[in-house]
Amino acid sequence: MKTRSSFLVWAALLACAASARPDITVVTGHNNNEEATAAFEFRRVPPPDGNSGAPGKFTIVDGRGDPNGGGLEALNDGRTPTEEDQPEENFFFDAGTEGGRLRLDLGRATPIQQINTYSWHPGSRGPQVYKVYGASGEAAGFNPAPKRGTDPAGCGWTLIAAVDTRPNDGGGGGQYGVSIGDSSGRVGEYRYLLFDCSATEMEDDFGNTFYSEINVLPVGARVPSASAATESNAPEIKPYVARSADGKYEITIDTARAPELTEWATNKLGPVLAEWYPKIVALLPSEGFQAPERFRVILRPGRGVAATRGTRITANARWIKQELTGQALGSLVHEAVHVVQQYGYARRHNPHPSENPGYLVEGIADYVRWFMYEPQSKGAEISARNLAQANYDRSYRVTANFLNWVGEKYDKEIVPQLNAAMREGNYNTNLWVKGTGKTVEQLNTEWKQELKKNINGTAAGGS
Ligand SMILES: [Zn+2]
Repeated sequence: MKTRSSFLVWAALLACAASARPDITVVTGHNNNEEATAAFEFRRVPPPDGNSGAPGKFTIVDGRGDPNGGGLEALNDGRTPTEEDQPEENFFFDAGTEGGRLRLDLGRATPIQQINTYSWHPGSRGPQVYKVYGASGEAAGFNPAPKRGTDPAGCGWTLIAAVDTRPNDGGGGGQYGVSIGDSSGRVGEYRYLLFDCSATEMEDDFGNTFYSEINVLPVGARVPSASAATESNAPEIKPYVARSADGKYEITIDTARAPELTEWATNKLGPVLAEWYPKIVALLPSEGFQAPERFRVILRPGRGVAATRGTRITANARWIKQELTGQALGSLVHEAVHVVQQYGYARRHNPHPSENPGYLVEGIADYVRWFMYEPQSKGAEISARNLAQANYDRSYRVTANFLNWVGEKYDKEIVPQLNAAMREGNYNTNLWVKGTGKTVEQLNTEWKQELKKNINGTAAGGS
């Protein structure tokens, strides 16, 4: 028994950690998106201590917290998120930034038994990447708040461990637990801990880890027992990698959680995305913008249809399976448009980005899908049945129909122009006037009149 557990510790050490002292142990656990629950149960990492919360007070030393998050209190309030994407129950550094530094003040020098950190997010910001340092605060030249660029080891801090739970294949959604301990039962005696947190990826704005809880357990504290065997032992299915004809773009399709879709992903989805992604990139350019050259599609049982965050598309395998000859491919072409849109770009390049209308974000994606990828399906046609609700800002395929009409009748550049403005944070309603000489409301009225005429004409003609 003893041999087995020390082997596990060593395996974990070799896989993911470096530490200042050889007797520091870093044990990690992962529950994938389907298995993660609010209990944060891991086989080897103790669950968060939900009763009392953990001691100490956090301060941001460098960087800034995301205003959508729960603030620093979320880190040791003893409350864990109950869902996979619950910003207010987590602390995370702001979108588009490269992490930051947090200091925990335990109030007095404290012998530490374990430092346990927990995170949960369905996307690439699930894993944890940080270094943790400890300090008594009494060393000569001690800097209580070393900013990025200052090596804490040079100003009174001791490196305890470096943690990186990102999987090698670049995936990473789900729930992570990390337990830093010491074979002697004592990590060290420190008053302050400094967490130097890195973003898990910088391909998009959403790479800062969703930290759900950071618990420091003093020597003598009860360690909640790690019990459940919820970690996945499913055999790994290698993701399929599709490449565009020119080799520039790479699309990884992960079917590890939906092995029955592997053949479809390889023979159908891969070729469609490899052909269409470069076309979408060419259709939606803007000055100085480079579309992501790599993105990932994850097919797994879930809810809804599909969603895209940055360069990660997740799609519900259950829905896909029902739609293999129906909407499956088209819906993923729609998601690939979101990868190209990258409207988060505006926040990094424009100090005062305007807000993008949601109906246009979806309308452009559906325009590409219904009018370019599958015009033969006529899925965006408006019939007598839904004419009354048709409005330019109805979103999805209705907006797509409107965009197609404006493009054919007035300005064939309208979609690329709207997209470029939205990516740059410069959207405003004058864009319609500039391109067509009419306001969007005037265009809407005219479009609806034509729709009505065509529908009535078709009905009268009996065809
Ligand atoms: Zn969409």
